[in-house]
Amino acid sequence: MRDAIMFFLHMITGLLFVFTLLGFAITSLRENETRAFRLTLITSLLVAILWFGIGATLPEYVMQITVAFWILTIAAFILLMLPLGKSPPLEIDPLKTERFDERHVIFGRMDLVDGLPQYETYYTRINPQTKRFDDHLRSMPRLGQPGGNHFHPLDSPYFKAVFKYIDRFNHLADPGEPEGQPVDISPPEAARRIKGFAKHLGAADVRITRLKDYHIYSHTGRRLDDWGQALNPEHRYAVVLSIEMKHPMVHSAPLNPGVTETAARYMQIADIAIAVATYITEIGYRARAHIDGNYHVLNTALAHEAGIGELGRLGLIISPKYGPRIRLAAVTTDLSLETDSPINIGVQHFCEICKKCADNCPSGSIDTGSKKPVRGVEKWQSNMESCYQYWRKAGTDCGICLAVCPFSKPNTLYHRMVRYFNARNGIARKIFLWMDDLFYSRKPRHHHQPDWFGKD
Ligand code: SF4
Ligand code: SF4
Repeated sequence: MRDAIMFFLHMITGLLFVFTLLGFAITSLRENETRAFRLTLITSLLVAILWFGIGATLPEYVMQITVAFWILTIAAFILLMLPLGKSPPLEIDPLKTERFDERHVIFGRMDLVDGLPQYETYYTRINPQTKRFDDHLRSMPRLGQPGGNHFHPLDSPYFKAVFKYIDRFNHLADPGEPEGQPVDISPPEAARRIKGFAKHLGAADVRITRLKDYHIYSHTGRRLDDWGQALNPEHRYAVVLSIEMKHPMVHSAPLNPGVTETAARYMQIADIAIAVATYITEIGYRARAHIDGNYHVLNTALAHEAGIGELGRLGLIISPKYGPRIRLAAVTTDLSLETDSPINIGVQHFCEICKKCADNCPSGSIDTGSKKPVRGVEKWQSNMESCYQYWRKAGTDCGICLAVCPFSKPNTLYHRMVRYFNARNGIARKIFLWMDDLFYSRKPRHHHQPDWFGKD
């Protein structure tokens, strides 16, 4: 009787183990991860042969093997759940923080053409040393124009159309003066309503932080109509909104689906931010949305401090559910709101040991070394000029760093478990990074495109 029970337990354990592996294989296939699929399938077969082979040929050891398996499995889970090797938080020295001038951002610089007064001002008084390089960049094909490596006459217009559309409505970011007298509302109640409203409209996450001076650009620099306008802090709070970018689209980087997804999510999150800002003015408070092409604030810094995610090596926010596969917008306001805090999901330590984005960046724009102080923040600093130069070559917004980041995996049960352990435990981070390289490769390449795109 005892032998029969042990044999039954041995069989159940083996089946559980093999089905868990097969589940991962199927998940990998659905994610177009063929290497992970093949490896897991082979591992499942080997495990099945070994486990059930032992059961059939050495029945006298079945009890010891099954018990040892469960003890080791439970011990491993307990070990990985322990809060060991805490990842350090991002260090911000408030005394050294400085405001950044948006006129230095490469996207605005590209609109400064010779003959414009802004061109003269920027390259004679503000930043003469970048003139030669910028002139060279401007001579390269623009994104989505013939000449870029991935230009396609039918694919490229998808993202161009969406960016054009955003450009046409981005003046709505400022909804103007509030309607009537402010409605009396407590900060927790206001935060609850705004979060609920934004999530209902489609935001993946909504978090709030106090607006500080260094979150605000010193001068505008993205659009010619208000270029060089000095910005003063007007609001006290920032509502930060994020939206998920679809995994299969991001996965195709640097091809056109990736940049189409970027444009699409900027459009959606801009809609939501404008609606939230307008709602706040409807209840009597001042508010402004900060959306693609029309920012007064640094959304990445705000997102880190509000706890949307942590700033990663690749220079983007890594969120708990979608990693860097998110786009951001913000709404600043003078409505008093209950605030959130930064989060720690293990990103700083993981990025320290991972470097996958840097290893895969075709232009070598991502820092492979240690963090450095940048305007009061100890962080990795990417080279936005060389990154953008690669965009002009590619004709898309590249996005390879996003696609290869281990945190970008879809939010399935298996990846959620890995994220849970990574957030708690330094040993888990090392093990899962090793497994990521093994199953997905250190230099993954995905060129799978949805069927409504042509082949590049
Ligand atoms: S790829 Fe690795 S190093 Fe780069 S941001 Fe992602 S986790 Fe950090
Ligand atoms: S977008 Fe491409 S070029 Fe730019 S940092 Fe990422 S991988 Fe490098």
